Amino acid sequence: MIRLHQGYVEDSDGMSTLSTDIDINDKKTNVYVSVENEYGKFLSPERADYALAGILPYAIRRGHDIICEAPVTEELLYNIREFLIPTLCRTDSRAYHVKIQADIAPPLDKLPVSKVMHGGVGTGLSFGVDSSYAILKHVDTEYPNQNLTHLCIFNNGSGIISNPIRRQKIFARAEKISQELNLPILKVDSNVRSFIKQHHAAVHTYKDALIIWAMQKLWRVYYYGSTYSFANFSLIGNTRRDPAHFEPFLLDCFSTSKLRIISSGSEGDRDDKVAFIVDNPLVQKYLHVCTGKTVNCGKCGKCLRTLLAIDALGKLDKFREAFDIDAYIEQREEAYRGLHESIKRNPEHPFLAQTYKILRERHKDFFDSLDAEEKLDAEEKLDAEEK
Ligand SMILES: [Zn+2]
Repeated sequence: MIRLHQGYVEDSDGMSTLSTDIDINDKKTNVYVSVENEYGKFLSPERADYALAGILPYAIRRGHDIICEAPVTEELLYNIREFLIPTLCRTDSRAYHVKIQADIAPPLDKLPVSKVMHGGVGTGLSFGVDSSYAILKHVDTEYPNQNLTHLCIFNNGSGIISNPIRRQKIFARAEKISQELNLPILKVDSNVRSFIKQHHAAVHTYKDALIIWAMQKLWRVYYYGSTYSFANFSLIGNTRRDPAHFEPFLLDCFSTSKLRIISSGSEGDRDDKVAFIVDNPLVQKYLHVCTGKTVNCGKCGKCLRTLLAIDALGKLDKFREAFDIDAYIEQREEAYRGLHESIKRNPEHPFLAQTYKILRERHKDFFDSLDAEEKLDAEEKLDAEEK
């Protein structure tokens, strides 16, 4: 049994922190979301919405029911109980049909607190490919109500951003980008990634939903930078799988008529996004995709696949501020070999297929020689076995 206690907000050192104590059977834990004082009025301690969104995958995997001491927004509770949980259970036999005990909260816009509701439109500013696309797609558009009003940077308590020096660098870069885009930036610190030990890749969308819902009075729309396109949608094995595979459905369940969380970029694939952002000077200067360092290392899987995509689009020279392009060019043959191997394993690779097609046509002799090498290797192996 999981009990979500009534949330509370505390102010200190210029920060406002929303916390909720959580009991998991006899074990006590706590989740918090911290923002600068000026944004503290948007925190929502009066309802359990945010903590419920974050704890849900744990309850589903570990077989816990949930008691919420604070009420839950009616539409959110309806979506979770009547759509999300039954669907996850139907498509994965390991999913537990969580029972949620909670009172329905009165509509926020009917309460005195409605005065602080802001109607903001936000998105995250990690400034990787998905994030850059979500931002550039929603700045100065022909749809005035869909334009961004705020950018956000999350320190979720883990990964490279959890180190204080790296956090400072990442937040400082986010501030520079937000200034160039002339949009305010909301800086968020949270223990969301570590308050329960769960593999980040299996729960990240739920935990980002927690942070968005913690600030529900600020948002009307939140664009969530998608990882995959609708074409890669799948709910199969959802308790063990990256929720990015069924994110449009999940985010729809975490949306209400007052707060819509939209999977931005699901309409295309990774190559479409790179093609959309590649000519933007801010992207050329600040794009950051590396999971290991605050500057792009140029060697890890994410750096390499991004460099290959930029290479395929013929824009390497434009990205000399974001990457060490000469180092990439030196190791390019090796990168092409790696790409070739990946496509052999998965010809429909969602991040690489289009890049490979372009590079293969451009460097036909090189890739043909890899095929010939493989053919020779296979023949030699067969000969050796026959002997
Ligand atoms: Zn890297």
